[in-house]
Amino acid sequence: MKKELTVENIPKAELHVHLEGTIKPETYQKLLKKYHETPSVNPYQFRNFKSFIRGFGQVVSVLREPKDYYWLALEFLKKQAELKVLYTEFFLSISSRMHNEGWADQAFRQIKSAIEEVEQKDKIWARVIVDINRASSWDIDGKIAARYAVANRKNYVVGLSLGGNERAKPIEIFTPTFRYARKNGLKCCAHAGETGPVENIKKSIFILGAKRIGHGLKAVDDLEFFKQNCGKSKIAFEICPLAESALRLINQKKENPIRQLYRSGIPIVIGSDDPTFFKTDIENELLYLIRNLGFSIKEIALIMKQSINFSFLTKMEKKKLIDLFKQKTP
Ligand SMILES: [Zn+2]
Repeated sequence: MKKELTVENIPKAELHVHLEGTIKPETYQKLLKKYHETPSVNPYQFRNFKSFIRGFGQVVSVLREPKDYYWLALEFLKKQAELKVLYTEFFLSISSRMHNEGWADQAFRQIKSAIEEVEQKDKIWARVIVDINRASSWDIDGKIAARYAVANRKNYVVGLSLGGNERAKPIEIFTPTFRYARKNGLKCCAHAGETGPVENIKKSIFILGAKRIGHGLKAVDDLEFFKQNCGKSKIAFEICPLAESALRLINQKKENPIRQLYRSGIPIVIGSDDPTFFKTDIENELLYLIRNLGFSIKEIALIMKQSINFSFLTKMEKKKLIDLFKQKTP
C-alpha cells in the first residue's frame, strides 16, 4: 500500500541556499573563539536588507582556513540528508580571502570532499554556484569569481550567480563576466526583482543569460510578460517564502506574489536562502506554503521533482536524479 505523502517524507530538491547562510550560531561562536575575534554586531539580528547583508559579511569573515569550508559544507549537507533533500545547489560567496588563488583552490577542494562524502554515505547530491556580491569591489570580485567558478568545474561548480543588494551596481557592468562564464560551460542565475525593480529581472534574463531568477517577486508587476516567456524558455523563479517575508518584500495587502506566479503557470523552485539567519530550513518553507498559501502536498511534491529540470546538472544527471526521486517517493 502507498504511504500518504507528507512534507517530511517526500524527496526534495533545494536550489536557492547560501552556504554561509547555513552556519549555525554555535558554529559561528566556535569560529570566533578559534580566531580570537570579538564581533561588533550580532549577525543573526537584523532589521532590514542592509543590516542583514552586513551580518552575512561578518559570518563570511570568520571562515579563515580552507578546512572551515569542509566542516561547514559537511554540517549543512548532513542536515539536508536528514530532511531528505536528495539534491542541493548551494551558493558560495567569494570572500576577500579568496583573492589568494592557492587559498581559494584549497577551499573549493574542501567543499568537494564534503560533497563526495555525503554522496557516498548519505546518497544525496550537491553542486556549487559561485555567487558574486554586487556590493563588494565588483570590478575585481566579479571577474575573480567567474574565473574561479570556471576553474573549479572539476570541483562541482556548475554555475555563476549575481547576488547582494541590487541597488548597489547596474547589471550591465557584469555582462562580460557572465558571457565568459557561459562560454566556458557554466549556467547562470541572478538575484533580481528582490530589492530592485522588475526591469532587473528582464535584464538578468536577456543580458546575463540567467536561467533562474532569485526571488524575483517583482515579476508580478509585469506578469503577462513572464507568463509568455518563462515556461517555454525554461526559466524558473527561486522562491524563498520565509526570507521574503522576513525581509518584508511581500506586500501583505495584495494577493501573495508567490501565489500569483504559481497561478500564472510560471515555474517556481523553492529554497531556504539563509536558513540559520531566518531560523528555517526547506521543510519549514514547504510547510509555510501549505499552511499560509494554500498549496497542496501533491503540488509541493511535484514542484520538488520538477525542480530537477531547472537545476544546472547535465541531461544525463537529471535523468538519474529523477529516477532516484521516483524510487524515494512513498
Ligand atoms: Zn539568495
